[in-house]
Amino acid sequence: MTNFRNFRFEVDGDGIALATWDMPDRSMNVITNEVMGELSQIVEKVAEDAAIKGCVITSGKESFSGGADLSMLQESKSQFERLAREKGEEAAMAAFFEESRRLSLLYRRLETCGKPFVAAIHGVCLGGAFELALACHHRVVSDADATRVGLPEIKVGLFPGAGGTQRVARLMQTGDALQMLLKGDQIRALMARNMGLVHAVVPRDELVRTAKDWIRNGGSAEAPWDQKGFKLPSNKVYSPAGMQIWPAANAIYRRETQDNYPAARAILESVYQGLQLPMDQALKVESRHFARILRSKEAAAMIRTLFLSMQELNKGARRPKDVAPSNLRKIGVVGAGFMGAGIAYVAANAGMEVVLIDRDVEAAEKGKAHSHKLMTDQVMKGRAKTADRDALLARIRTSADYADLKDCDLVVEAVFEDPKVKADVIQKVEAAVRPDCIFASNTSTLPITGLAKSSKRPDAFIGIHFFSPVEKMMLVEVILGKETGDKALATALDFVRAIKKTPIVVNDSRGFFANRCVLGYILEGHLMFLEGVPPAMIENAGKQAGMPVGPLSLNDEVGVDLGLKILRATKEQLGEAAVVPAQEELLARLVEKEGRLGRKNRKGFYDYPESGSKRLWPGLKELQSRHLNAETLDMQELKRRLLVTQALEAARTVEEGVVTDPREADVGSILGFGFAPYTGGVLSYIDFMGAKAFVEICRDLQARHGDRFAPPRILLDMAASGETFYGRAGAKKAA
Ligand code: NAD
Repeated sequence: MTNFRNFRFEVDGDGIALATWDMPDRSMNVITNEVMGELSQIVEKVAEDAAIKGCVITSGKESFSGGADLSMLQESKSQFERLAREKGEEAAMAAFFEESRRLSLLYRRLETCGKPFVAAIHGVCLGGAFELALACHHRVVSDADATRVGLPEIKVGLFPGAGGTQRVARLMQTGDALQMLLKGDQIRALMARNMGLVHAVVPRDELVRTAKDWIRNGGSAEAPWDQKGFKLPSNKVYSPAGMQIWPAANAIYRRETQDNYPAARAILESVYQGLQLPMDQALKVESRHFARILRSKEAAAMIRTLFLSMQELNKGARRPKDVAPSNLRKIGVVGAGFMGAGIAYVAANAGMEVVLIDRDVEAAEKGKAHSHKLMTDQVMKGRAKTADRDALLARIRTSADYADLKDCDLVVEAVFEDPKVKADVIQKVEAAVRPDCIFASNTSTLPITGLAKSSKRPDAFIGIHFFSPVEKMMLVEVILGKETGDKALATALDFVRAIKKTPIVVNDSRGFFANRCVLGYILEGHLMFLEGVPPAMIENAGKQAGMPVGPLSLNDEVGVDLGLKILRATKEQLGEAAVVPAQEELLARLVEKEGRLGRKNRKGFYDYPESGSKRLWPGLKELQSRHLNAETLDMQELKRRLLVTQALEAARTVEEGVVTDPREADVGSILGFGFAPYTGGVLSYIDFMGAKAFVEICRDLQARHGDRFAPPRILLDMAASGETFYGRAGAKKAA
C-alpha cells in the first residue's frame, strides 16, 4: 500500500488498485494543486506497473467531492493580472492557458493511459470531481438519497473546463447536454443513469466490489469517443439533425441569459466547436474558452458572492462567538396567514416542534393545511413518503391559546402589519413564554426598535424577515433593534441555519435592506411608464439588465395595492417630499378606480387569463399621457437606470450603517430579489466598475432624470480615494 497525503492507494490480489480519496483536515474532498499532483502520480503508477490491471477511484468521506477549490480559482484573475504586469499580456496569456488546462490534461492522460479506471461514487460528486468521473471509463454510483452528480459551475459564472463540456456532449443528445451544462442542476442516481451519465446504480456497500468486477471482467480502457466508428449522439454539427439543434439553442440561450453570462456563451461555443473536432483538439478549444472565462469579472464576482460569501454567512460569519449554540427544540408561530403558514412549515421540516397560533383554531388549522399541501406535493413527486408527511404534520400543533407557547425557545410573529395588533400580540406572548425565550417579528416595514417598545425584554426582541414564498426563498433578513442583545442574534442565526436558509444581519431602518432596494426598482419602472416609455420595453429592459422579472411584473407579484399602501405610509411618516406624487396617482388609479391589485386578482399591469400566459393590460396605454417612440429610446440607458437605482439605494444603506458588511448586501440582493447575478450583487456592481465610473453614470442620470440619482457622500469619497466597498470593509476588520 502506497500512501499519499490525500489518497490511500492499495492493490488487491487480483491486481486491481483502489485509490481512496480522503483529504486530511477537511470534511469534503476538493481539488487542489496537491490533489492534482497526487492523482497524476497515481495515474502514472497504474499505467506503468504491469501488475496493475486497472484502478477504482472512490472517496473515504461521506461524499465523493464538491469539485475544485473555488478559493483557488478565485485567485486566477489576480494571478493573471500580476503575470501580465511582469511579463506582458501575451506571455501571461500563454502561461495562464497552460496553468488553467492542467486538470483537463491530467484527466485526458487518465482516459488514454491504457488501463481502465472506474469511479465509485457515493454522496455528491460535482464540478471538477464529476469531470474526473466522466474521464473514467466506467461510473458506478450508490443508490443513496444523498447521491448527486452534476456540473454546477455555471452557477458561479464558470463552466466545466476539464473536459466536462466535451464528454457530456458525446454521451447524450446535444440538446440534453446543453441543458445540463447551462442549468447546472444536481442529478440523482437513477436520473443520471437514465441520462447515460453513469453506468450502474448499486447499494453503497457494493460500490467498490461492482467497480472492481467491471475491471476484472475485462472493462475497456478506451473511451467510446476514442474508439473507431464512434458516432455523436446527435450526429454531426453540420448535418440536417445538427442544424435542427443550433438555431434553437441560440434562441434559448438568448432568452435565458440575455447574453449577460460569458460562461454560458462559452459552453455553447465549446460544444459547437468541440463536436466538430477529435477529442484532443476539442479539449484544447474548451481550455481556451476556460482560460478566458476564468479571468472574467463575472466569474470573479459570482464566485465571491454566490460561493465564498454565501458559505461564510451560512457558517455564521455574523454570529456572536461567545453565545453557546441554541438548542431550538420548539418554536411558536403567531399568525397562521400567508407568511406564518410558511414559517411553520420550514421549521417543522427542519425537525422542530411548532405551536401555530391564530385568532381561532380554524384559522390556525388553515395555516397548517399549507404544510399538508406542500408535503403532499413532495409525496406526489416521489421526494417524500406519506410517513414523512404525517410525521411533519404531527410536529405542528395548532391553537388559539397563548399558554401553549410556554415552553417555546423562540416565537415568531406574523400577524397583520398593524402596530396595534403587533403590540397586543407581543404582550400576550411575553406573558406566556419562559423568560429566556426569544421573540422575533416578521414585519416587513415596521422598525424593530419601535415594536420593541411594547416588549418588556427588548434585548430578547429581534426581526426575522422572511421573503415570500417562505419555502422557496433562500434569504432571511435578521434585523437588530437598538436594544437587541447577542443572545437574540445568535438564536435568530441558529434558527435560520437550522432551516437551511442564508441570513444577512442588518440594522434597523424603514424597509430594512432588501425592500428598500427593490422598491427603487419598481419605482423606476413606474417613472419610465409615466414618461411614456412603452410598457413592454420597460419590462424587457429589466430582464435584459439581468433581473428575473420586469419592474411592472414584480409590482404585480407583490401586489399593486401593497405598493400603494407602502407609498402612503411612507408619505405619512416622512412627509410629502418622500414620495413621487405621479406614482401615487398611477397606483391609486390602478387600485381604486380600475380594481387592478396585481396577480392576486388576475388584474394588474398585466392580465392573467385562466389559461395561457400573462400579457400586458391593453388599458395601460390610457394611463400614459405621452407615448414615446421605442425607436428613439436608448435601451442601454433604461437598463442602466434600473440597476443603478438599486445599487444607489444599497450604497445609502451602507452610508447609514444599515448594512455593515458588503457580503450581506451582495448575497442579500441576489437571493432576496434576484439582482442581476452576473454582477455579483448590488455593491459588487459598483466595485467592479469602480466608484469613479459609477459616480459619473449617476451624475449623468441625475442631470437627465432628477436628484434620485444624486450619488451619496460615501460614493463621492470612494470615487476620490479609489476605494471599494470590500476594500473598506477589509480595512475596518483589520483595524
Ligand atoms: P396575512 O394577513 O396572510 O396573515 C396574518 C395572520 O395573522 C392571519 O391569519 C390573521 O388571522 C392572524 N392574526 C391577526 N391578528 C392576530 C392576533 N391578534 N393573534 C393571532 N393571529 C392574528 O398576512 P401575511 O402576508 O402573512 O403577513 C404577516 C406579516 O408578515 C406582516 O407583518 C407582513 O408585513 C409580514 N411579511 C409579509 C410578506 C408578504 O409577502 N406577504 C413578506 C414578508 C413579511
